[in-house]
Amino acid sequence: MSDGEIVLLTWSDYVGFMRCRGVPVEQIESRMEYGLGWAVAGQAQTPFADLAPNPWGPMLEVRQVPVPETKTRIDIWDDAPAYHFYLCDSKTNDGQNWDCCTRGFYKNALAAFKAETGLDFLAAFEHEFMLVGDPLPPAPSFTLETMRNVAKFTSDVTKALTQANVGLETVEPEFGVHQYEITSAPAVGIHAAERAIITREVIREAARRLGYRATFTPKVDPDGVGNGAHVHFSFLDAQGNNATYDNTQPNNASVVAQQFIAGVTRHMPAICALTSPSPVSYLRLGPHHWACGYASFGVQNREAAIRICPSPARDAAAAAKGFNLELRAPDATASPYLVLGALVLAGLQGIREKLPLPASVDEDPADLTDAQRESLGIKALPSSLAEALDLMDADPIVRAWMPATMYESYVSVKRTEIELAKDLTDAELCKRYADVY
Ligand code: GLU
Ligand code: MG
Repeated sequence: MSDGEIVLLTWSDYVGFMRCRGVPVEQIESRMEYGLGWAVAGQAQTPFADLAPNPWGPMLEVRQVPVPETKTRIDIWDDAPAYHFYLCDSKTNDGQNWDCCTRGFYKNALAAFKAETGLDFLAAFEHEFMLVGDPLPPAPSFTLETMRNVAKFTSDVTKALTQANVGLETVEPEFGVHQYEITSAPAVGIHAAERAIITREVIREAARRLGYRATFTPKVDPDGVGNGAHVHFSFLDAQGNNATYDNTQPNNASVVAQQFIAGVTRHMPAICALTSPSPVSYLRLGPHHWACGYASFGVQNREAAIRICPSPARDAAAAAKGFNLELRAPDATASPYLVLGALVLAGLQGIREKLPLPASVDEDPADLTDAQRESLGIKALPSSLAEALDLMDADPIVRAWMPATMYESYVSVKRTEIELAKDLTDAELCKRYADVY
């Protein structure tokens, strides 16, 4: 007799959704090797009911194969069975990685980074979101009242993330109305993306069990505060030391970190198509609200695309360990696999070419004149998804990161999203995305 528990096999698609199929818990063992089949035309889904033009016919399938170490089973709710799932690798029938798998894209990026630098990539996401359906009136930003209004929710999230063992770091109120932030602890390689995915899905579940909805959309209201998905990162050498840190270098950023920053800032306008990949992303991205509008970098500069984050520690070893960099453009309409893959590959390109560190800016780059930005080599980030896709198309290095089918089908989904959004007002656009992200 089944007790009704379903195990979900889930994967992150081009629009950052976790699509899934499920099996009764009694059958999961028999599915571990070959997973479940899935018609790949599903990868052409937009966030809405519409399918983008795609190269896949009605017969083509991939296997969604569960990755054993990603097993997540959370059993803290009285009114629902355990939330039990595995993240999947998408494989072809002959066991090869499917060339359009977002997880595969990031795994390949990590493998290249490790092979060429000998370093491991360590990363952590900050998750900003808003709780929709909180019946209490909004309390002022960052207050105890904001937190205690949703004490049951934050306690459920804490219990669930602790049970999931995905490195919960902080749980706090944020600046926007009914806005909260939960940060993940850093993890090496693919695990950083897994933690981000699991953390977001657990936040959603904790909210829905209480009758709220957690939305991670970049903007719930055109005039309101944005939700970012900033990424903190550093590199580990073979001895486990922080290879982004070197206190003999400018800003304490090691040579390899300087080259990485240079690669990311050079390709940042193009990779917005992967890190800020929705029409609504461009209501958030832009200067003056800490979401960043320029491909600049700076120490502790929250208007920079890359912020150097020194550690507050006075102890030398702790200061070295805590030093990290932050990419501020991403939002949660992007698959964490694509965000981290793009970041790693852009930085790696800077290392390959030994690019020099760009100028550090310690003010909002939007407050500089065009001539000042030009002389510092600071480029604006795109102001729409269409512009971002054009910039990606014009960047042969970025275009070459993906196999041709992946690149073309990704762009097709994104162009279809633009088409679907083209007649919407900003308020309608926000609502459409807030309803599904
Ligand atoms: N909410 C801001 C964003 O959209 C970030 C605020 C912060 O620095 O935490 O990215
Ligand atoms: Mg924040």
